Amino acid sequence: MTPHSGDGGAPESLGRLAARLRTAFRDAGMDNAALDARVLAAFAAGVGVDRVVLDPDALVSSQTADLVAQFMARRLAGEPVGRILGLREFWGLDFALSTETLEPRPDTETLVEQTLRWCEAQGGRDRSWRFADIGTGSGCIAVALLNELPAAHALALDLSEPALATARENAERHGVAARFSAVRGDFADALAPGFDILVSNPPYIAPGESGDLSREVRLFDPPLALFAKDNGLAAYRRIATEAARVLVDGGVVLVEIGVSQAAAVRRILNDSGLEDVSVFQDLGGRDRVVVARRVAK
Ligand code: GLN
Repeated sequence: MTPHSGDGGAPESLGRLAARLRTAFRDAGMDNAALDARVLAAFAAGVGVDRVVLDPDALVSSQTADLVAQFMARRLAGEPVGRILGLREFWGLDFALSTETLEPRPDTETLVEQTLRWCEAQGGRDRSWRFADIGTGSGCIAVALLNELPAAHALALDLSEPALATARENAERHGVAARFSAVRGDFADALAPGFDILVSNPPYIAPGESGDLSREVRLFDPPLALFAKDNGLAAYRRIATEAARVLVDGGVVLVEIGVSQAAAVRRILNDSGLEDVSVFQDLGGRDRVVVARRVAK
């Protein structure tokens, strides 16, 4: 390691780099300045985040200091920390990201949780569930579910080939690739009937609302993953029709929704002949997931 000499000639330490990041982020009025600073300094140095606190005097190489300077500029330009790391944690697992994948959000864990609840109520996690994940992106939902459902098989669909490649990489990373198929598809068009479960976190933002988004989202999440016509509801109409077609009798569809969409999505699912529609909240108490069943006629 070549200890780096900072401006005054003193060698750089992990703690000083983190402090410099923190000050820059605070001065820019950013939330989570201290945590972001620790995470980025540790990542640049190739050490665990705890080292920043436990060993702040550790000297770092000039490459690490250069990397920290680059990370600082990128973060100040609005790039989320997960994008800079190329990784984001979801359901306790690390997911690789690419420019074509949405950065997984904690709210989406509600969808995973409700899917697992449904499986438990319908005979248990160990059954050989067949599910499809529409608009899989990084594959976070499908891979998290496969990780919890040891005999399940997932078909993960996306319009974007690069997103599918990232999703496959994530399935491999977490040891579930043998039960994971990533297929290019516009919603569930390509699917034959026979699924127990359909999950989706579709695009649901109305194109007219793009101005309300933070620059982190606007500049760094892929538009294909965010926006849907028809006031943000277009994807739900497709999913409802396809759920009614591909689910087995008694099968379930679970979709993530935006804050004010529960009533509209409930209606869309009912209109497609699906039944027992219920709405669940995320940890912040906001309506987040709508669930409906296909019932034998
Ligand atoms: N399924 C992925 C996620 O929940 C991607 C969703 C999307 O691109 N709209 O993060």
